[in-house]
Amino acid sequence: MHEWTLAEAVISTVSQIAEKEGLKEVAEVEIKVGELQQIELDILEFALSQLKTLKLKNAKINIQTVKAELKCRVCGHKWLFEKEKMTEEIAEAIHFVPEIAHTYIKCPKCGSPDFEILQGRGIWLESMKGVK
Ligand SMILES: [Zn+2]
Repeated sequence: MHEWTLAEAVISTVSQIAEKEGLKEVAEVEIKVGELQQIELDILEFALSQLKTLKLKNAKINIQTVKAELKCRVCGHKWLFEKEKMTEEIAEAIHFVPEIAHTYIKCPKCGSPDFEILQGRGIWLESMKGVK
């Protein structure tokens, strides 16, 4: 399952940084997930809690979702994808197949369905705090 792969990557990155910084313990980790990333946050949280290493055992792991930012390829207009404005069904479809977004989302300025996703996919480590 891909949430587990992502969780492993996060834990291994955090562990490497902790090692490099000479941290005795990691206190807090902040992870950001793009809104269009195909991921189940519950599973990710569970996977993270299961994979915690010794240095991370007391770490508080915060996961935040980041809004997707889109840019029209025709007129250059940038806008934020607002999931709340979509019907549940469409939002769900986009969640599982982000490419489908092009069918439903159009540039609010010129109406073109040709846009790129500037931000809103992937998962990354935003920050971490530790004890030396
Ligand atoms: Zn446009």
